[in-house]
Amino acid sequence: MPDDAPMIGHNAPALPPEVARRRTFAIISHPDAGKTTLTEKLLLYGGAIQMAGQVRAKGEARRTRSDFMKMEKERGISVSASAMSFEYDGRWFNLVDTPGHEDFSEDTYRTLTAVDAAVMVIDGAKGVESQTRKLFEVCRLRELPILTFCNKMDRESRETFEIIDEIQEALALDVTPASWPIGMGRDFLGCYDLLNNRIELMDRADRNTRAQSIKIAGLDDPKAAEVIPPAQLSRLREEVEMARELLPPFDRQSFLEGTLTPIWFGSAINSFGVQELMQGVANHAPPPQFRGAASRDVAASEDKVTGFVFKVQANMDPKHRDRVAFVRLCSGHFLRGMKLKHVRSGKPMAIASPVMFLASDREITEDAWAGDIIGIPNHGQLRIGDALTEGEDLRFTGIPAFAPELLQNVRAADPMKAKHLEKALTQLAEEGAAKLFKPMLGSGWIVGVVGALQFDVIASRIKEEYGLPVRLEPTQFNGARWISGPKEKVEAFIGANRGHMAEDHDGDPVYMTRLQWDLDRVVRDHPDVKLTAVKETL
Ligand code: GDP
Repeated sequence: MPDDAPMIGHNAPALPPEVARRRTFAIISHPDAGKTTLTEKLLLYGGAIQMAGQVRAKGEARRTRSDFMKMEKERGISVSASAMSFEYDGRWFNLVDTPGHEDFSEDTYRTLTAVDAAVMVIDGAKGVESQTRKLFEVCRLRELPILTFCNKMDRESRETFEIIDEIQEALALDVTPASWPIGMGRDFLGCYDLLNNRIELMDRADRNTRAQSIKIAGLDDPKAAEVIPPAQLSRLREEVEMARELLPPFDRQSFLEGTLTPIWFGSAINSFGVQELMQGVANHAPPPQFRGAASRDVAASEDKVTGFVFKVQANMDPKHRDRVAFVRLCSGHFLRGMKLKHVRSGKPMAIASPVMFLASDREITEDAWAGDIIGIPNHGQLRIGDALTEGEDLRFTGIPAFAPELLQNVRAADPMKAKHLEKALTQLAEEGAAKLFKPMLGSGWIVGVVGALQFDVIASRIKEEYGLPVRLEPTQFNGARWISGPKEKVEAFIGANRGHMAEDHDGDPVYMTRLQWDLDRVVRDHPDVKLTAVKETL
């Protein structure tokens, strides 16, 4: 039972068994470290797909559906996130995909609000790379427990201690070995499983088979000498002894607080180390955790259904113009057809055809539990940050929108299509693909993004999905701040700065900056008005 106990400090009542067996996690990594390959193998063991390789094949088939997806493919980036569910060894796993490109950090941030743990994949030859570091920082902000998988051990990689040191230093994170590699590159035999005292041998002939597993009574057990050549065995003994002396033992509390990570070594392409990692997620990653709302914390053990939208994906099928809102269920047992309150509008919503992404394709789901991710097709009512409840006016916190760092004017190539453009931009903004600002003076729109590549994505999507060629042009502004404060002070602020004012797609006032000096001046002149670079989505 301790494995399924909620985090200490939140003495929630025991979780229903269906919730307790759930593990909702994301994989973070630098492009090329092996996230796709690992995902395939997880699904393969999860019985969700028959043969590895199908995730990719399936992905290709999907991508042909729209030109936007084609662009995604050409650039080798994954713009859209999805969630997949599978069962393994009595546990129910929800794997939430994180967008892989660094330009999509805001999307990634929100994805990480929907999970309870993360698997960090690193390439054994490359160590901690830039994107891993950035994603890790987000996990740290959220105090997410992290399990590490050091991949590609079948290739020449760094010394084991060197890899561990680098993680400890680069990420200020304690590392405890869950397994220890026996040799590397061409001499890589497999791993010694320190937690279960087993030797796992990799099968190079068949990439999809389970590793041979030999239970031993320590490394002096003669059974170890039967399968490991003497030189490698003596080195393994030395290294493991040193590791036990120098590295901290596994401590569940430090792991749950996100300050210590267990590391597994393996080779995703050879299916090696993958099951041990899955077992690690099953045994150590926490079950669904409480979620913070403005009025109170919502515990996963509560009976009433609650959830929040962390992602909206529009035009998954261009023919239908549908949108799918991805909802993380925070509590309760959801049943298809349930009427939930859409808190932002105050209106009831019958959730008639919720989908769960069962590894290979989306399917209508009859029920779901706290911790699960369900997709709700809708026509735009559901936005990022929206709460669904059985009646309570909850507002989940911690789902931020960041001020964009890059801004451009956007115009329709055909001026008669301005209304059409407004609709397309509003939809993209609601989906979270960009920030949209309408200047209070003059006409036109300004789009804001966090990474430059997003401009191309937006222009391409407006063209492909809405049939509207657009031009993006430089703007005089280089930053945006949301403003808040007492009503009359905000009105006075707006009156005095009209040339700088805009509204975002929710109609909230935003101050657009040209120079740092602008900001310094308005902060000095309007001490009662708060300017912020982050807005928490309602
Ligand atoms: P992603 O960008 O993180 O999703 O990485 P992929 O899963 O697409 O893998 C990147 C490349 O590394 C591909 O060519 C994989 O075949 C290869 N790869 C993945 N895992 C391993 C492994 O364990 N060993 C070796 N040698 N190559 C691997």
